[in-house]
Amino acid sequence: MAKRYLIVGAGFSGCVLAHQLVTSSNCRVEIWDERSHIGGNCHTERDAETNIMVHRYGPHIFNTDKKHVWDFVNNFGEFRPYVHRVKARSGDNIYSLPVNLHTINQFFNKNFSPKEAAAFLDSLADKTITDPQNFEEQALSFIGRELYEAFFYGYTKKQWGCEPKELPPSFLNRIPVRFNYDDNYHANPYTGIPVEGYTAVMGKMIDHPLIKVVLNKKFQPSADGQGFDHIFYTGPIDAYFNYQYGRLGYRTVTFSKNYAAGDYQGTTQMNFCDENIPHTRITEHKHFTPWEQHDNTVYFTEFSKETGPDDTPFYPKRLTADKALLLQYRTLATQQHTTSFLGRLATYRYMDMHHVIDEAMQMAKQFITNVQQNERPPVFPNSE
Ligand code: UDP
Repeated sequence: MAKRYLIVGAGFSGCVLAHQLVTSSNCRVEIWDERSHIGGNCHTERDAETNIMVHRYGPHIFNTDKKHVWDFVNNFGEFRPYVHRVKARSGDNIYSLPVNLHTINQFFNKNFSPKEAAAFLDSLADKTITDPQNFEEQALSFIGRELYEAFFYGYTKKQWGCEPKELPPSFLNRIPVRFNYDDNYHANPYTGIPVEGYTAVMGKMIDHPLIKVVLNKKFQPSADGQGFDHIFYTGPIDAYFNYQYGRLGYRTVTFSKNYAAGDYQGTTQMNFCDENIPHTRITEHKHFTPWEQHDNTVYFTEFSKETGPDDTPFYPKRLTADKALLLQYRTLATQQHTTSFLGRLATYRYMDMHHVIDEAMQMAKQFITNVQQNERPPVFPNSE
């Protein structure tokens, strides 16, 4: 008999999992989401005033080094080539990010060749830090104090609401440093923007007679889930356990939306690296789709703050206290086998879309094998 599975959350984790489960095993799936739309924080929609496709919860640029993930998402909509070139304001100047040869030459008023720039940054790097333990040490040991203070200190403090010393070194590793003029923000080979937006991609993924989507439905862990053979939960892990040990730290993001005629800032994303400017970045969404024509423009100024009980959690902070708390919740999770946890919020990690998709694909495969062999299903993704 067909199994019945409940998936909580209609973001990429939930949608990929639902698709894989119904296409590779004998089951019916229900996806519940407390929001009025699918897509999670990758949700896109056309702005009512300008018809521009906007990323409602902040900019999302699809990029991956995994061909199987790229091939998979391309089954559900056309992705057009798009290279994300970020500009950053620091002091009175506008620079190119990630830090590349142009940034270095402009910032230090030099005309270095790649080799000269590499040697110069090496001379600025703090050699006393041999094993960086935090974001700041990672930056100092890599690019030195001047570039760190100009581009990373203020932005990171605003973004995360704490000293960069309190954050893990891995947050910095997301952004490359280059000794050539390549200003592509991402280093991954497969990149693009879906022509009809991410919500349409996910919509197509779950458009299946064996998948039922229920919107505006909040999952109550203690009460719901009856009648299902298994639950896959993609919401915050602390919420699942009713915050019994306390709340994990997340940053949330708020946006102020504005309109202008023509082109507002000439590029998709402008970062504001100085601590005294309250916002972190401005995103002008029509530059994501240069193949479309729009006379007017809409742009979003982004502010970061601590997540309160009624805010949407965006970024898992993973400070030391959070990690200890996470361990307690993970221990509870592993004591049961009726629910699997996956995605950014349920595993409490800073994940990109392609990580989320890959893990959901792997978890579906693992789960199907476990069911076939009468084994216990995975509680967390194996690759974690
Ligand atoms: N960051 C920074 N200055 C910038 C851009 C990023 O200091 O101009 C830091 C910041 O701490 C951020 C991290 O680098 O959280 C990763 O940046 P990314 O652009 O990947 O952040 P996201 O797009 O996920 O918000």
